[in-house]
Amino acid sequence: MGLLYKSTRSSRTATASEAILKGLSEDGGLFVPERIPALDKTPRELGQMSYGEVAYEVMKLFLTDFTEEELKSCIEGAYDEKFDTEVIAPLVEAEGVWFLELFHGKTIAFKDMALSILPYLMITAAKKNHVDREIVILTATSGDTGKAAMAGFADVPGTKIIVFYPKNGVSPIQERQMVTQKGDNVLVVGIHGNFDDAQTGVKKLFSDRRLEEELARAGYQFSSANSINIGRLVPQIVYYVYAYARLLAEGRIGDGERINVVVPTGNFGNILAAYYAKLMGLPIGKLICASNENRVLFDFFSTGEYDKNREFILTSSPSMDILISSNLERLIYRISGDDPERTAQLMRQLAEDGSYEITEEMRERLSDFYGGYAEEQETFDKIRSLYEDTGYVIDTHTAVAAAVYDRYQEETGDRTPAVIASTASPFKFARSVMTAIDPGYGEVTWDDFALVDELSRIANVKVPAAVEELRTAPVLHTAECEKGEMEAMVRDFLGLRKK
Ligand SMILES: *Cc1c(COP(=O)(O)O)cnc(C)c1O
Repeated sequence: MGLLYKSTRSSRTATASEAILKGLSEDGGLFVPERIPALDKTPRELGQMSYGEVAYEVMKLFLTDFTEEELKSCIEGAYDEKFDTEVIAPLVEAEGVWFLELFHGKTIAFKDMALSILPYLMITAAKKNHVDREIVILTATSGDTGKAAMAGFADVPGTKIIVFYPKNGVSPIQERQMVTQKGDNVLVVGIHGNFDDAQTGVKKLFSDRRLEEELARAGYQFSSANSINIGRLVPQIVYYVYAYARLLAEGRIGDGERINVVVPTGNFGNILAAYYAKLMGLPIGKLICASNENRVLFDFFSTGEYDKNREFILTSSPSMDILISSNLERLIYRISGDDPERTAQLMRQLAEDGSYEITEEMRERLSDFYGGYAEEQETFDKIRSLYEDTGYVIDTHTAVAAAVYDRYQEETGDRTPAVIASTASPFKFARSVMTAIDPGYGEVTWDDFALVDELSRIANVKVPAAVEELRTAPVLHTAECEKGEMEAMVRDFLGLRKK
């Protein structure tokens, strides 16, 4: 029997390919697998496999309406020379922990791990479901998703892609990556607001039934490349399984030995993938959820109350500057005992009051998680001390995780081997990283590329091609809009009538 997906907010179901095409369920809920499949290969067996082969072993269990041939062809298309290392996701040891480098794809952040395969999954899903309309990918980005999605979807026949990013909420390199994106099917817009504004605006467009009908008449349908799409979530489970299998194959851990996983978290997609890996039977102990100063998840884990009514703080880890973590809904659904009414009610409360509280019983089901947060200074101190002690340079997001992990160890004394998800290349956040290493760099008037060169020199790492290209790439997108104008931008791009 194939695995079906259920909405977190009603009794609606969908096949995997339907869920990928839709992104979000009509009732506003997120699709979740009706059960989490168990791994049917041992970590030892998986340790003999390439990244692509492990990807197949994991994804086949979730995307059961894809044929073997379809899935393998998606995987081959995605995990090829676009990545600058054959192993795709290398593990690097520093100070006794394993940094799982997820930034060797085209846009040098972990979003590439899933967004390099999503277009293939989507096109395959469209064919399977006899969709003849053009798919319009509508995405809100805190900086990394947008570029990675565009890199995946640019000039893919039968698709268009529209990206909204917070005009003043991304790093200069991130912005440059986006506004230089080529492709005739691409629209990039900087909005005058923060990431949550962009995400809320996009969700609103998704749930506008009138607009949907109008789109259909014009030959379009929306889909999502955000991490609410299970086509993003499932490929993210792969690298946790792969990392465990590698550690085992290399004799770093023993059979059945547990590892802890530390994830710098924003929308709760990456850590949820690690949780699913654990539920599949991978020996993971604690899931350590690391937040920056926007510590809404830390507060949630400590008090059981989710409350987004607070100041939005711009930090040096902008991809985690988020107050509404969309994927948390999937965890809420699970700890409610798969109760769609309950979940819908809490999500309604979040939409109306900006907060909700879970029951004691639900809280007890969160014991796999540890929530922590790091302030800006701790994050910077971690980058510097790790560099000084080992020569290894990590980016600001990864540093939030590393700092939280230090605190976790101090608090608990837990010495279980740990894997830290290293979510971006330090070159993507060169200014912050260099300032952390030596505050003197914060005062120099160099442009970002001069800092990139300096980082390359002190870290003894070649400047990634993704950054090198940006030096001379022409700016192709200059559109900006107010929060309330997102629909108008979409209508204009798709040639729909003005409202
Ligand atoms: C997106 C992103 C995160 C947060 O990941 P979530 O899945 O949203 O929790 C962390 N670090 C970087 C560099 C990112 O791009």
